[in-house]
Amino acid sequence: MSGGAGYIGSHTVIRLVAAGHDVVVVDSFANSKPAVVGRIESLIGGELEVHAFDLTDKDKTEHLLASMPFDAVIHFAGLKAVGESVEQPLEYYENNLESTFSLVRAMRRHGCGLLVFSSSATVYGPDAPLPYREDYEPLVATNPYGRTKVMIEHVLRDVAHIDESFKVALLRYFNPVGAHPSGTIGEDPQGIPNNLLPFVAQVAVGRREKLAVFGGDYPTADGTCERDYIHVEDLAAGHVAALTALAASPERVRTWNLGTGTPTSVLEVIAAFERASGRPIPYEIVGRRAGDLAQTWADASRAADELGWRATKSIDDMCADAWRWQSQNPLGYPDA
Ligand code: NAD
Ligand code: UDP
Repeated sequence: MSGGAGYIGSHTVIRLVAAGHDVVVVDSFANSKPAVVGRIESLIGGELEVHAFDLTDKDKTEHLLASMPFDAVIHFAGLKAVGESVEQPLEYYENNLESTFSLVRAMRRHGCGLLVFSSSATVYGPDAPLPYREDYEPLVATNPYGRTKVMIEHVLRDVAHIDESFKVALLRYFNPVGAHPSGTIGEDPQGIPNNLLPFVAQVAVGRREKLAVFGGDYPTADGTCERDYIHVEDLAAGHVAALTALAASPERVRTWNLGTGTPTSVLEVIAAFERASGRPIPYEIVGRRAGDLAQTWADASRAADELGWRATKSIDDMCADAWRWQSQNPLGYPDA
């Protein structure tokens, strides 16, 4: 697994181990802390093999893939901050594309032919009809981060097209939130959170004074944006299901939305978090954030039909688990 020390990867390691898989992690710790490894080990009750290097290093990637047989790779590694990608486009294109090239080259050279890739609902762009369906084209993202996802989807399709021994699952995540129910692992953004849930959680715990709600005049029921929030535990389970389905699949490219199929507004998230934490979330409605769409949510029926997987957790579950993580770890993971 690449990026296994990150938010979604750390939760997925636990699910994979519980399902009987042996997991090896590569992570550069560019956006995660080594302390997560011990937390994962406590939850899996054993050691986790972790290789700390950057996947853009072709030699190291090649060396690892040559060192033991891998059945499959789940590729989470990548930079993911939309705003930062606008400021630093080259870094984003280089990191996200080069790491994928390096990984796919080494996989093919060493006979590993199953790849599960972390794509995103952002690939649907501003014009796709709601709810988003996997067969929608063309994919047009509106920022460099999103464009790396569109580009990588194309690259992986093209490779699977010419290589009979290479199969790929493109998983388009909606808005992952929440944390492991133990409260020992969760989302640990560096600096000021860009995303809604970690910001709300930091307001609840007293690290930030109030939330700025970006826009109250959208054409939605309460005027605030709606998103399809999905519990990270459901998302992790979706990876296990996708891996199993891909291994058995006669088709070499499979695309699945991983969402709940239900939109929730910003004000509904605030109310749910207040219920979960028992604390008020002060907020102020400010101007719209550039690039935000009024509503996005998944048509989750393909994953239900083909993977037998569906999200099970409610927005109240998501907020309760996010709050447990945030209140037990107000400053996130320790540095050492
Ligand atoms: P994250 O930043 O918590 O985890 C990504 C991990 O990859 C980090 O631990 C980071 O150190 C590592 N990494 C980055 N570049 C690397 C490289 N070149 N070599 C080795 N390791 C590297 O992010 P996440 O939220 O867990 O997201 C995982 C994947 O899912 C990403 O590809 C992201 O773009 C995608 N995704 C995330 C969301 C979301 O909202 N969290 C939504 C859609 C898609
Ligand atoms: N949002 C907000 N204040 C914040 C962060 C986000 O009002 O500090 C809103 C944002 O406008 C969007 C929703 O919350 O409507 C989800 O934003 P996030 O960045 O988490 O996800 P994305 O926009 O990528 O779907």
